[in-house]
Amino acid sequence: MAASGKVAAFRLPPLPTVKEIIKLFNLRAQKQLSQNFLLDLRLTDKIARQAGKLKDSHVCEVGPGPGGITRSILNADVAQLLLVEKDTRFIPGLQMLSEAAPGKVHIVHGDILTYKMERAFPKHLQKKWEDDPPNVHIIGNLPFSVSTPLIIRWLENVSNRDGPFVYGRTQMTLTFQKEVAERLTATTGSKQRSRLSIMAQYLCTVQNRFTIPGRAFVPKPEVDVSVVHFTPLVQPKIQQPFKLVEKVVKSVFQFRRKYCWRGVEILFPEAERLEKSEQMLMLADVDPTLRPAQLSILHFKNLCNAYRKMCDEDASLFSYNYREELKQKKRTRKKGHLEQSERED
Ligand code: SAM
Repeated sequence: MAASGKVAAFRLPPLPTVKEIIKLFNLRAQKQLSQNFLLDLRLTDKIARQAGKLKDSHVCEVGPGPGGITRSILNADVAQLLLVEKDTRFIPGLQMLSEAAPGKVHIVHGDILTYKMERAFPKHLQKKWEDDPPNVHIIGNLPFSVSTPLIIRWLENVSNRDGPFVYGRTQMTLTFQKEVAERLTATTGSKQRSRLSIMAQYLCTVQNRFTIPGRAFVPKPEVDVSVVHFTPLVQPKIQQPFKLVEKVVKSVFQFRRKYCWRGVEILFPEAERLEKSEQMLMLADVDPTLRPAQLSILHFKNLCNAYRKMCDEDASLFSYNYREELKQKKRTRKKGHLEQSERED
């Protein structure tokens, strides 16, 4: 019986346990790489089940390490499993799993941040964006330092329908530090509402499925871990380029405890800041005294549409960078001080 209670058509033959593999290949977790392993196969089965029906599907597992989740994915009777692992020490153990599931596993020793997933799976798997999600899944328990930049990159890929999303609305089941998972799924008005909440939720249905206590990992991390499931939306809730949405959302959350107009202001050069930010908030019909966390996705949609309109009217506006202006001002001030003290000498 499979852990889900259904009869599975495929089961891995008897193999050394994950713990034995770790011992056999001397796979001590490297703290500087934030490696924390899952050895309990009931938990890894539970993670794999969050992806949905995996039978006959094509899966990319990112950061398989000693292969706990890998076994659960294989036991779900997938058609093809692509493993992308950066640390060479894990390759022999993964090869052992590959031999136990002949013809199913393809191992890539590489970095998921540079791996081109658009060429990884057969073309015939491609579905139209409007159709149901394709039979392609991404599953992974990655270090937290990788999973956050990676999800931002994959969200941009969702927006552009490229990378892993050339196959259609590829679903992702990924682990995050519990607090990050809470931010990804935070609703309007909640304490955890942040840039990540808007960026993820305007493009995907995001569900925080369950939390794994830190003590379930070896070695035990300082934090708990949550499993988050993403399904790209047929229609993004904001229909503007990803970089534009990212700029507006980042600016608004720059001053998360202040009124939202404070963040809107920094989208504009100092000389026209007051006038333009008022214009943008008016166009978007957003109350300037709302706090960033109180803004709904609809508010952000209106803000992005208003900012887009203003960028269309002033071609130089989108390239304006508040931080650069601050740096420039600092440099000019410093130069002024130097010149003054030279004159005084
Ligand atoms: N999935 C395994 C488990 O749950 O026991 C290992 C989890 S461990 C937290 C993260 C794994 O991701 C390690 O095997 C690590 O070498 C790998 N990894 C880290 N950064 C990576 C990257 N950029 N690309 C691919 N793999 C990476």
